[in-house]
Amino acid sequence: MLTTSERFAFLAEWYDPSAALLRRYQLLFYPKDGSVEMYDVKNQRTFLRRTKYDDLHQEDLFVGNRINVFSRQLNLVDYGDQYTANKLGSKKERTLAMIKPDAVTKVGDIIQMIYDAGLIVTKAKMTKLSWKQAGDFYMEHQSKSFFNNLVQFVTSGPVVVMELMGDEAVSVWRKVLGPTDSGAARKDAPASLRARFGTDGTKNAGHGSDSLASAARELELFFPSTTGHGPSNTAQYSYCTCCIIKPHAISEALTGKILNSITEAGFEISALQIFNLDQASAEEFLEIYKGVVSEYTGMVAELCSGPCMALEIHGPDAPREFRAFCGPSDPEIARHLQPATLRARYGKNKVQNAVHCTDLQEDGLLEVQYFFKILEG
Ligand code: GDP
Ligand code: MG
Repeated sequence: MLTTSERFAFLAEWYDPSAALLRRYQLLFYPKDGSVEMYDVKNQRTFLRRTKYDDLHQEDLFVGNRINVFSRQLNLVDYGDQYTANKLGSKKERTLAMIKPDAVTKVGDIIQMIYDAGLIVTKAKMTKLSWKQAGDFYMEHQSKSFFNNLVQFVTSGPVVVMELMGDEAVSVWRKVLGPTDSGAARKDAPASLRARFGTDGTKNAGHGSDSLASAARELELFFPSTTGHGPSNTAQYSYCTCCIIKPHAISEALTGKILNSITEAGFEISALQIFNLDQASAEEFLEIYKGVVSEYTGMVAELCSGPCMALEIHGPDAPREFRAFCGPSDPEIARHLQPATLRARYGKNKVQNAVHCTDLQEDGLLEVQYFFKILEG
């Protein structure tokens, strides 16, 4: 094979907010030198001349993923040729994962296990299921003796539902979960999720779709592709502050570690959801920093450069305490003065400083509402 000329082709879509149009491009990636080229399909002209772009990696290139090219979030909607489909797409799958109520406080460890298994989390939402939602979700078990116990259990508290993506995601995630019965899991697969975090045959910490067909049905229940938003989020809108895990931290696979640090420090995460902000929303959310903070433009670009995870942190003095736990906004300063803070541990620079948190006590509620009410629609 002539690897010097190897190239991968995709059909990519970008929503252009200024024109309110969905634009389509042919996107070409040359693995040899990591360069990218884009061609406007409708206008039949070059949109981006072949340019080296270090932030794009071959493992991010598969249909269904969202990538960032020069501050544009592009959805890869199809393969551009058979070669690309065969080489990069043949084993990519999506599956539905659920963290059941008994393991929601372990969300950080569990997301870490997902990434360690080579999968990525593309959607996530904390929700509380109604009896009807749980019954629909588990419809294949309606006649089983354990059905009522099961529905009772999964409606007993919040759950976190996620879309996972990667090579053979359905079976890889089932393997991470381990055997259905947590007791059996502790014997047969002691490193598995159910062995580590589950209790028994019902309280077993997690769910995973058992086939591609189940995955499609279950994903549609929680992350509907056409109408509506699926089950509502769990934001409480009282005694709260807002934390955003920034896109760079998500793409560096730090989500699990950051969530772990937050819960280990004793903070309660009362809502959690992955969002994809466009430029206009990022500008609106960060408006109070405009003309005040010199990094404003960079902050906006970072916030809309890929998926971010919004958290509602709940507690009587949450805004003040959580602000202190995040540390100084410059990670270099944080590492000198307060090395235990989130920015000291996970930040890179003033813009890519791992997390945004609400600055002013009185803005906590407003920022939580911005994500969980306004963006959620
Ligand atoms: P899974 O796909 O590994 O989650 O297992 P199933 O689809 O067979 O069952 C769905 C869920 O029902 C399991 O995760 C358990 O929470 C619960 N469950 C399954 N089998 C039993 C059982 O025999 N007894 C009880 N009490 N609960 C069960
Ligand atoms: Mg099942």
